[in-house]
Amino acid sequence: MSKFTVTIPDEIEDLTPSIRRFIDAMIYKLNRNAHKGKWEDLNTHTAFERLIGEVDELHEAILKKDNSVETLLEAADVANFALILANIAVEREDETPNPESFKCKKVASVAKAS
Ligand SMILES: [Mg+2]
Repeated sequence: MSKFTVTIPDEIEDLTPSIRRFIDAMIYKLNRNAHKGKWEDLNTHTAFERLIGEVDELHEAILKKDNSVETLLEAADVANFALILANIAVEREDETPNPESFKCKKVASVAKAS
């Protein structure tokens, strides 16, 4: 098991419990989904589609009653796919996504709803 230290500036120190809880949720979900395989094989488009799918799951969780744990865990899924996309961008700078590939139906439906 590895550990790292997170330094939180004094100005936002009051957010420490929320940040800790959210990071714990992200790690919990990453560990729970570890059996699904590593993200290194995902391309940008697939990871983005999965992120949008997680946004939909988060939206469904928000609409339920007594949804605090489910909402936290679905928000962690969203963050984890954002993490994956950021990781792809940083580590595979040579992968230039096709802008057309991001014009998927789900993005369009989210944009209409808001
Ligand atoms: Mg999910």
